[in-house]
Amino acid sequence: MKIYPKDELEDKTITCVACGADFEFTAGEAKFYQSKNLTEPRRCKDCRILAKEQRDKRHAAQQNMVREQTRSSLADVSDVVLKHLGRE
Ligand SMILES: [Zn+2]
Repeated sequence: MKIYPKDELEDKTITCVACGADFEFTAGEAKFYQSKNLTEPRRCKDCRILAKEQRDKRHAAQQNMVREQTRSSLADVSDVVLKHLGRE
């Protein structure tokens, strides 16, 4: 039997606040979170991946919007240029 120091991290089970599933938060993860100064997760891996995907999707949608706006303003410019050229 191993004797661990008092502050040794242990694996523990956390209940996900999003889906209610129990998930394991390992000592290794705890150490990583501590080193990053993060509080322990409240959502399971699946819910965290889902949340990240939704964030990415929103981000992608925003990027698309910017791209669309750029494209339409370029289209306006070429329209003006074409009209201008046509007049000459
Ligand atoms: Zn969950």
